[in-house]
Amino acid sequence: MLSQILSKLESYQQDTVEIRRYLHQHPELSFQEYETAKYIASFYENIGVTDVRTNVGGNGVVAKIHGAKPGVTVALRADFDALPIQDEKEVPYASKVSGVMHACGHDGHTATLLTLAKVLHEQREQLEGTYVMIHQHAEEYAPGGAIAMIEDGCLEGVDVIFGTHLWATEPTGKIQYRTGPIMAAADRFEVYVQGAGGHGAQPHTTKDAVATASSIVVQLQQLVSRRVDPIDSAVVSVGSFVADNAFNVIADKARLEGTVRTFREEVRNLLENELEQVVKGVCLTNGSTYKFLYHRGYPATVNDEEMTEFFVEQAKTLPDVLQVEETPPQMGGEDFSYYLQHVKGTFFFTGAKPTYRDDVIPHHHPKFDIDEDALLVAAKALATAAVQYQTYAKTSEAAAQSAR
Ligand code: MN
Repeated sequence: MLSQILSKLESYQQDTVEIRRYLHQHPELSFQEYETAKYIASFYENIGVTDVRTNVGGNGVVAKIHGAKPGVTVALRADFDALPIQDEKEVPYASKVSGVMHACGHDGHTATLLTLAKVLHEQREQLEGTYVMIHQHAEEYAPGGAIAMIEDGCLEGVDVIFGTHLWATEPTGKIQYRTGPIMAAADRFEVYVQGAGGHGAQPHTTKDAVATASSIVVQLQQLVSRRVDPIDSAVVSVGSFVADNAFNVIADKARLEGTVRTFREEVRNLLENELEQVVKGVCLTNGSTYKFLYHRGYPATVNDEEMTEFFVEQAKTLPDVLQVEETPPQMGGEDFSYYLQHVKGTFFFTGAKPTYRDDVIPHHHPKFDIDEDALLVAAKALATAAVQYQTYAKTSEAAAQSAR
């Protein structure tokens, strides 16, 4: 049964590539993916899948494939939004939309899941259980689509969830997993310093907002090194410092903006708190006031231990998977995290480095691309995990019963 599914995925590989290229040429920004959502819905209509919900939590689409035999419910998720980046690749399938580009591989995620859905649907008479295809809008832009889709019921009845991200910096054939946190919580902060402006020649009559904000930036460098337990990982980066003025005028206002990345909720809470303490202390010293805003983005993506082990065992059975390795946690954020707060599961990386060039181009880069052969690897890995989970669930249920 599984081998039939895998060989069908192989035979549809060219179709998968065509879907990916179509989506790549027609990217849409987060929360504006109306045409992509329509495309996905009509794909299901064309292949005869009728249990499809559109506008789930926004532009999300959820399709269910019902196997003829009883079993558990497995969810698979693919996101489908693009980024505000001008495509600079010279390939026939480059983006046709000026300033918008699939620069993270979500087009590939969607193509993979659509083909897998088609194959599962074709095999439904032999299939056990139910397969919930979660096509998620707006992964790239907080608050993201996952929260709203979950609130709109996309996880109802779901026992386990699997998801992958194509990873263009690792070669095709490699799968990377991690138990526990695999991607970081990604938060944003804003600091508004209010000093008192004046003449550049008379600094003693002012409260220099540039000097105060500069001290804050310097002090923040000590948070990770002196406040966070060295066993934990964290990032505090100031990405924006604005205090525009004439050269001979002392600024009365400055604005800082930055990001905080953490893997544990305790560290996240600590940094939110300590950040404000630094701002407060420096402003007090400099006779200025402040406004501090901390915006929580996606929480850390924390993989279930048992499901990660199960997935790794399954991935190793695939000849297409040349290497399965543990990845260090990544400092990027991912709203797959929300699904894992509700159901057990695992999120893994599927190597997808293009072979047509030697340099490594990171995600969110104007020349970003993926190796399309990786779509088949991703589809097979997801298919194997999803289908084999039926047997796993029965075996662990039987073991639990005999233990009672
Ligand atoms: Mn992404």
